Amino acid sequence: MSEFPRTWPVHVDGQDLLAVTAEDLEHLRAIRRQVGGKSARLSAMGARLRVTRGILDRIAAEHACTGDACAVCRELDRLPHPPERPEGGHGVGPDTPN
Ligand SMILES: [Zn+2]
Repeated sequence: MSEFPRTWPVHVDGQDLLAVTAEDLEHLRAIRRQVGGKSARLSAMGARLRVTRGILDRIAAEHACTGDACAVCRELDRLPHPPERPEGGHGVGPDTPN
């Protein structure tokens, strides 16, 4: 298996540099474009996750909780990282003052 990128030391204008083949340079540029695209997609996904998390946190804090068998609380508890809820583990109930 050959090393990638293939490099060799060169000395240009008083600087020690590493040279690569034109083929490897193009491959490196293609990898950089791919990483840039994935980074942009991950950034957009992170933004959507933060918005979704904010919505879930608001639902957890503001839903009209019916008590221990509350369907909303059951679904929130199924999340990998359930949102924190007011004391008692439930959102706003019918008797909770606003
Ligand atoms: Zn509830």
